[in-house]
Amino acid sequence: MAMRKLQQVIPVMPTSDGAGVKLRRSLGQSQQARLDPFLMLDEFSSENADDYLAGFPDHPHRGFETVTYMLDGHMLHEDHLGNRGDLKSGDVQWMTAGRGIIHSEMPQQLQGRMRGFQLWINLPAAEKSKPAAYRDILAEQIPTVALSGGGRVKVIAGTLVVEGAAKSGPIQGLSTEPLYFDVELRPQQTFVHGLPVGHNAFLYTCEGTASVGEPARALPPRSAGLLSDGDQVMVTAGDEGARFILLAAKPLHQPVAQYGPFVMNTREEIEQAIQDYQTGRLTA
Ligand code: FE
Repeated sequence: MAMRKLQQVIPVMPTSDGAGVKLRRSLGQSQQARLDPFLMLDEFSSENADDYLAGFPDHPHRGFETVTYMLDGHMLHEDHLGNRGDLKSGDVQWMTAGRGIIHSEMPQQLQGRMRGFQLWINLPAAEKSKPAAYRDILAEQIPTVALSGGGRVKVIAGTLVVEGAAKSGPIQGLSTEPLYFDVELRPQQTFVHGLPVGHNAFLYTCEGTASVGEPARALPPRSAGLLSDGDQVMVTAGDEGARFILLAAKPLHQPVAQYGPFVMNTREEIEQAIQDYQTGRLTA
């Protein structure tokens, strides 16, 4: 049994993307700040409509997956295939860009809090050219498991095992075997969970404070905490409790060539993607 340690902390960098949506970027703020196969994590959180109203008008993606998890707010997704998805509080959209998708993600509210995450997960080389696909997962399709001692876990991907009972999330069967939990803990409550040895894992605290591992090391709020290898993770909430997302996946160990929304293995493939986009063949 090896308890994972908090190995590296990546504080968020304020940034903006799309047509001017204000974001907090942890993973993905530089090429060094990735955790194979995770490429990027953005948190958007604002009460001020000016920070999000411009949204993300039509833009392309190729070669990876985007996972949008709305905590608060309402966003409409439309893609070149004619798919429409209306994401509301608690919903998740799991999009596999594969060979290519052109889509828009536009806030559907004029005021109030907009809060959520967008995570980018890389695809293995063999799956970068597969047809685009996406799944909208409604909040009620995501199992919520109460923890003894308070708190709860929402199981978006992977399988939660607590006190011998297993609960699987709606996302299963992907080759990176992702685990995506949204965990809420009471003050000083401890959450311990198994993680496959060799899978890369990190967590991000969006409310309260948490300490991680043994010996415990504090994870500052709004930071990605990258974990060492091991078969278990342990997180203890601070005095105000904590809410964090826990992510783990099987690393690809493949070269990454990225140019904005295109993530391939080589520079040549990036040039091809740009050319395909410019000539209308990205999604063909
Ligand atoms: Fe997008």
